[in-house]
Amino acid sequence: MTDRYEGQRRALIGVMQQRGIRDLNVLRAFDTIHRHEFIPESMRHQAYQDAPVPIGFQQTASQPSLQGLYMQVLDLKPTHKVLEVGTGCGFQTAVLAQLVDRVYSVERIRELAVRARERLDELRISNVAILVGDGTIGWSRYAPYDAILVAAGGPEVPRPLMEQLAEGGRMLIPVGSRTMQRLMLVERKGDAFEQREVTECTFVPLLGRFGWSGEGS
Ligand code: SAH
Repeated sequence: MTDRYEGQRRALIGVMQQRGIRDLNVLRAFDTIHRHEFIPESMRHQAYQDAPVPIGFQQTASQPSLQGLYMQVLDLKPTHKVLEVGTGCGFQTAVLAQLVDRVYSVERIRELAVRARERLDELRISNVAILVGDGTIGWSRYAPYDAILVAAGGPEVPRPLMEQLAEGGRMLIPVGSRTMQRLMLVERKGDAFEQREVTECTFVPLLGRFGWSGEGS
């Protein structure tokens, strides 16, 4: 659909391609879902830059090319059931909903979760469930998951998330200090978990029982 941001959106997709995102389903989903609709009005002019954008509550919407990398590395399939930790503004949630069967997303800040739910409802995206809570303990009710995306950086890989990964399932999670992390790919092979580093990154802190301790967690 044509809108005033169409040119900027196409340009962003070009930048994502230059930065290594080649999965056409992923690129198409970033075209279908309009990032500006998830970004607060005052920040909307930055919506199509390949950069994190403040969304309030000291949180940021993640960098699009990094989100695209997550989805490409996880090799998502239309049959997949996916867990997202850190709904934030809900943009990534909406993109994921185009690529997989069901998205379960956990967000610790109620107001962000409520806003994300509203946006998704406006867009009539109906294959997403959102829970307000601590995503470091996962969402056991719907486990196991074919893929888990953690959108905040923690000191270690939370054990419950490993346990909620399906056989052959993959998880991407930033692990390191509060200010600098390595994006780790964790793959379940039976009772074993293979880990490898994908890239360096900087995410907001993962707060919670198996994350950093912090206000409200
Ligand atoms: N994908 C989101 C990323 C938002 S930033 C987007 O692009 O908008 C990371 C989010 O993780 C923040 O909203 C933060 O509140 C949330 N978060 C941090 N620790 C969490 C936890 N333990 N459980 C659930 N959400 C958490």
